[in-house]
Amino acid sequence: MRKIDMIVVHCSGSRCNHRYTLEQLRHDHVVVNGWRDIGYHFYITQEGVVYPCRPVERMGAHALGYNAHSIGICYEGGLSPSGCISDTRTPAQKEAMKLLILRLHREFPAIKTILGHRDLPGMQKACPCFDATKLQPLLAS
Ligand SMILES: [Zn+2]
Repeated sequence: MRKIDMIVVHCSGSRCNHRYTLEQLRHDHVVVNGWRDIGYHFYITQEGVVYPCRPVERMGAHALGYNAHSIGICYEGGLSPSGCISDTRTPAQKEAMKLLILRLHREFPAIKTILGHRDLPGMQKACPCFDATKLQPLLAS
């Protein structure tokens, strides 16, 4: 089993008034990018449904330089209807994300850090369009 000590949060970068389904995500990662599987370990849709994507035992493809020891979670959204960077998480998504993080922390007590893609050093991205470091206190429980 690989060492896991970090959760990196992402957004799909899609507008909140459009759907970006698991099937579209898979298509973009597998067919367009040519990867073996979806790069994230979990995908959370607007309804708060959590889809396991890549098995956590396997290294993801979501955070260059940090994939080996992290778990990648992506939520559907991140852009306003007009395409502006925005925390578009629905209450159901926020709750699902919280429960998922708590579950992962129970499963992998070595997880010490939760941050957003944009918080990684040298990252010039807005992803996940909210301050994911605010989720860090979940690890204290
Ligand atoms: Zn990202």
